[in-house]
Amino acid sequence: MLTADRLSLNTATVKEQWNLAECIDGAARHGLGGISPWRDKLQEMGVDAAAQAIRDAGISVSGLCRGGWYTAEGALTQSVLDDNYRAVDEAATIGAACLVMVVGGLPEGSRDINGARQIVRDGLAKTLEYGRKAGVPIAIEPLHPMYAGDRAVVNTMSQALDLCDELGDGIGVAMDVYHVWWDPDLQAQIARAGKSRMLAFHICDWLVPTSDLLTDRGMMGDGVIDIPGIRAAVEATGFDGLNEVEIFSAETWWKTDPDDVLTTMIERGRMC
Ligand code: ZN
Repeated sequence: MLTADRLSLNTATVKEQWNLAECIDGAARHGLGGISPWRDKLQEMGVDAAAQAIRDAGISVSGLCRGGWYTAEGALTQSVLDDNYRAVDEAATIGAACLVMVVGGLPEGSRDINGARQIVRDGLAKTLEYGRKAGVPIAIEPLHPMYAGDRAVVNTMSQALDLCDELGDGIGVAMDVYHVWWDPDLQAQIARAGKSRMLAFHICDWLVPTSDLLTDRGMMGDGVIDIPGIRAAVEATGFDGLNEVEIFSAETWWKTDPDDVLTTMIERGRMC
């Protein structure tokens, strides 16, 4: 059973209703173990003010979303790298367990997915160097292959872990059930990741049918993902981080009273 203190609120889950100060307060009020802010919310509040509020609330930070987007300018540019270095600094300031990387899709007009993957590899290597000095682990989030065109050309756990093996210490994966639940190799790749590479664990559900490929994620228990099964495999590695609830839901959960969203998260957590 997942108790509230084992859950973390990803701010995307209530992004239309609450700013970061309200998310911190709400997470603490509901007895959650932590939060995971997105950078827009963090910058809106101010990084130092957020760090102070998080410390005062006595909750932890399961990750900062997100760095990456290495392919945004068609080649690896200094401005893209600088933005990633800033993200590392922000993650360090708020004491985030990791910086979550959504690595970027194909550059505009490109059909060269291998080239895009090379840009991503080089960008991760540079960010990792910086992250090691700052003491911030870098967590690659493999995204479902439907996003390879526009969001991320790292699409499976196996591919992400190959990158980790190539790049060395200080880098791992942020595994989101929404992106990887379908993978026939999932159990083996979770075991391969082990405790040292499993840096974050995101939960939500896959609805059938899904009406929007970005903003129609389900609450745990409303879809077809075997969350208890995947969670058991993750915990078998020794993973002891928080279970981060990240639900993009334009038509349902973004239109629900945020306190009810958290209450439902906690109820459903007990079932997975
Ligand atoms: Zn995620």
